[in-house]
Amino acid sequence: MSDNCIFCKIAAGDIPAKKVHEDEEFIAFHDINPAAPTHLLVVPRRHVRSLADVTSEDAGWLGRMTVLAQKLAFDNGCTPGHDGGFRLVVNTGQEGGQEIDHLHFHILGGPRPWNKRAAPAA
Ligand code: AMP
Ligand code: ZN
Repeated sequence: MSDNCIFCKIAAGDIPAKKVHEDEEFIAFHDINPAAPTHLLVVPRRHVRSLADVTSEDAGWLGRMTVLAQKLAFDNGCTPGHDGGFRLVVNTGQEGGQEIDHLHFHILGGPRPWNKRAAPAA
């Protein structure tokens, strides 16, 4: 838990969110400002600032987070099969357009058209 981190506060239940998943390692919830019909954020409970801060020692939970993202995408409106799919976006650092300094995956999907460039800060 990092002081004044909004995603730590959501993980702790101190700030409400439209949660779609919760387990001991991760939470997932709807982005408050969706850029696609399905726009979820997947967040590790541990406070990691960004993808620039991980090492090979983080491969285990990062792998689990990626598999969880795929499941949540298809459970929450993204179309399965080659005609469907989704985008996984990880804004990283200031030049990467990251606004909240707690690592998170954006899942963006749902029936097109939606603005391909509308991924946050893309
Ligand atoms: P990023 O630019 O990758 O750091 O993205 C941060 C995302 O968090 C943006 O898409 C915001 O819309 C989203 N966001 C900010 N505050 C909240 C909140 N309280 N609940 C849900 N999503 C949020
Ligand atoms: Zn945090």
